[in-house]
Amino acid sequence: MTVVRRVFSVFPALSRLLPSSGRCSNRFTTAADLEELITPPVQINYTKLLINGQFVDAASGKTFPTYDPRTGEVIAHVAEGDAEDVNRAVAAARRAFDEGPWPRMTAYERSKILLRFADMVEKNIKEIAALETWNSGKPYEQAAKIELPMFVRLFRYYAGWADKIHGLTIPADGPYHVQTLHEAIGVAGQIIPWNFPLLMFAWKVCPALACGNTIVLKTAEQTPLTALCVAILFHEAGLPEGVLNIISGYGPSAGAALASHMDVDKLAFTGSTDTGKIVLELAGRSNLKAVTLELGGKSPFIVCKDANVNRAVQLAHFALFFNQGQCCCAGSRTYVHEHIYEEFVEKARLRAMRRVVGDPFKRGVEQGPQIDSEQFEKVLKYIKSGIVSGATLECGGGRFGSKGYFVQPTVFSNVEDDMLIAKDEIFGPVQSILKFKDIDDVIKRANNTQYGLAAGVFTKDVNTANRLSRALRVGTVWVNCFDVFDAAIPFGGYKMSGMGREKGIYSLYNYLQVKAVVTHLNKVR
Ligand code: ADP
Repeated sequence: MTVVRRVFSVFPALSRLLPSSGRCSNRFTTAADLEELITPPVQINYTKLLINGQFVDAASGKTFPTYDPRTGEVIAHVAEGDAEDVNRAVAAARRAFDEGPWPRMTAYERSKILLRFADMVEKNIKEIAALETWNSGKPYEQAAKIELPMFVRLFRYYAGWADKIHGLTIPADGPYHVQTLHEAIGVAGQIIPWNFPLLMFAWKVCPALACGNTIVLKTAEQTPLTALCVAILFHEAGLPEGVLNIISGYGPSAGAALASHMDVDKLAFTGSTDTGKIVLELAGRSNLKAVTLELGGKSPFIVCKDANVNRAVQLAHFALFFNQGQCCCAGSRTYVHEHIYEEFVEKARLRAMRRVVGDPFKRGVEQGPQIDSEQFEKVLKYIKSGIVSGATLECGGGRFGSKGYFVQPTVFSNVEDDMLIAKDEIFGPVQSILKFKDIDDVIKRANNTQYGLAAGVFTKDVNTANRLSRALRVGTVWVNCFDVFDAAIPFGGYKMSGMGREKGIYSLYNYLQVKAVVTHLNKVR
């Protein structure tokens, strides 16, 4: 198994914009002859809507294609749910909540079903990960060794919570016995994105089910396959019919119908800030359902003067390039102290050049394709804007290979805060490296954004770490680490990165009502 190096030509439309001198070169590591791990296609058995425990066609009879991002080829046609199907799914979830066994069984029984499901997924990780890779383009090793084990862990974590959810006894003034009951909200509508199809499924489904709710989940139109596949295992594990309904389909039709449905009690959404605003409005204009939103980000990754440059470069690279750069919390503004800036930029360039791009089914591949042509074109447009606005293109800058949606790992230096590449969420493998002088300066600049999802801080100085952690207006600060997604750690945004927290104990609160029961006492002792 050897890694070869090939010379790539720059994306043709960009070549005239490239600096004639400078350090830009486009020699990338490629996965051309790496050992193949697994041979797709795996078999696709489930392409219909899941309503009331049955796979059914869309009421309209319509289907839509889903693609392999490595080639752009169609891999399956999937039932296209719309408002009528959402109505059927919500009715099933309502019945399952109002009359079915799920909210009525003991919490321990619910927990055992979640645990059985986790065991079944664990036994089938390879097949499920292969399907995830085929539909999303993410490296198979990442899906099989990181994401699926985390999926299993999340279900076990929340199975552990199911029988530990309870209210309080509250001492009140007067002759009253006061208790709070923590009750399931009812029918949860959940809309998820395409960048982590199964992990987003778990973040949403686990806490809702642990609390005894029922669900209608809409998958992203780009990645409908794995949710349907694991749902089969869930029913085999004993999940009653109607508790988990899955609708494949498009946002403005199926998604909007779910967000505005009068019989949905709670809405949880992960996606772009623009769409988050739309679903919040739909929820408000319909029945004022409770809403949690996990939206976009433009996370700063701050490398302080005292940092070990080699380690900082590795971590900053991971913070940005993980999952093809398609992470809402990606460290997409790399702020580096001026004393180490030049050294950092050169090493960041070399690291990006070593990034192994290629078929995500091959061993050792770090980067697969972007999800679809729209995202691919969007990323290339941002690269072009970086070049036009005067940032220095250190490496990359174009398409990788000749088919599918691969983008060369791209690094820009001399990026200024007001450039689009430093302001907008690119959602691709494009690192922007900015220079800073002192901590006050970088705090102001890091916070000067509409977003507030996450931040990375790299320093040996505990005082600097503490100061930055408290000053940054974000939902997560990773100090000398990044993308640590333990099941128990809450995640969510400040400002326009969203509202509410997912994971950990915090997401249970999203799926519970608190009822106060006040009982008059005739005689107090
Ligand atoms: P992206 O632009 O990255 O695809 P979106 O926020 O548009 O992100 O998509 C995230 C999820 O929101 C997907 O499941 C998508 O179908 C859904 N969605 C998109 N538009 C709407 C809408 N108008 N109403 C409800 N859901 C939507």
